Amino acid sequence: MNELRCSSEWQELLHSTDTYLFDCDGVVWQSVTPLPGAIEAICCLQKLGKQIYFVTNKNTQSRIDTFYKFSKLGFTNIAIENVYTSSYATAHYLKHVLKLTGKVYLMGEAGMKTEIENAGFTCLDIGPDTMTGEPGEIENIHIDPEVQAVVVATDYHFSYKKLVKAFFYLKNPACHYIGTSEDRVIPVGNGTIIPGATGSFIQAINYSTGRTATVIGKPYLPFINCIESEFPFERSRAVMIGDNLNSDILFAKRAGLKSLLILTGVTKRAEFLAGYKDLPDNLIPDFFSDSLCSLTTQ
Ligand SMILES: [Mg+2]
Repeated sequence: MNELRCSSEWQELLHSTDTYLFDCDGVVWQSVTPLPGAIEAICCLQKLGKQIYFVTNKNTQSRIDTFYKFSKLGFTNIAIENVYTSSYATAHYLKHVLKLTGKVYLMGEAGMKTEIENAGFTCLDIGPDTMTGEPGEIENIHIDPEVQAVVVATDYHFSYKKLVKAFFYLKNPACHYIGTSEDRVIPVGNGTIIPGATGSFIQAINYSTGRTATVIGKPYLPFINCIESEFPFERSRAVMIGDNLNSDILFAKRAGLKSLLILTGVTKRAEFLAGYKDLPDNLIPDFFSDSLCSLTTQ
């Protein structure tokens, strides 16, 4: 594992890679603020002719919303085709891998619904759906016979009634069960750790149904298969740059990519350096750096 502290220490990585996959939160921005060195690093890689993709597990936003965020925050020369959200990759999986023809029952937000609809599917309504406790309520829950997949994403209105509906749909073994990502916990802007919504909902559904979701986002491989199906690249000459050992670095290891840990997000320098020797091999990055500033620092 090598630390990258200045541009000369980046040379080995720059010579051995052509494709750069960037995580977003904690690497190129924190909430709504670009992280130090991120804009400059991406410009520098573009000038060197590197292929750049952004690969985020965030599923509440559509691909186009995420693309607009780049321009709003001052990142230029980024094409929408280079932005991959787990919402886009999930819709891509329904269409191109499962070749679904029916409707989708979604637990998720508008960005995820947009992607499912853009892929040509009918998505049942999202938003609040709760129970009152009246007798007979469960017996009257409407189940649409055309639903062929349950998709679980971050849903600000997750409820017991939605859990019951997912349970009813998934009783049919032919109904597909897809999760966008499964982070156990996630950080918010001020560094507070909160439960990962999608991962927690998936566990609730797994528990009651006895089924296991197919997860699309990092560290699972459907995400990289989605990118590769649109832009084939040589995995051994690609690097995943991320801040999360359990999603970004594990993803890189499973996919056969090089890995660079950036310490501007969830992984803190002191903690990481004190504990990395005890980590399994597939969580230890090939390279690490305090921030993306090191690429352009002499
Ligand atoms: Mg991150």
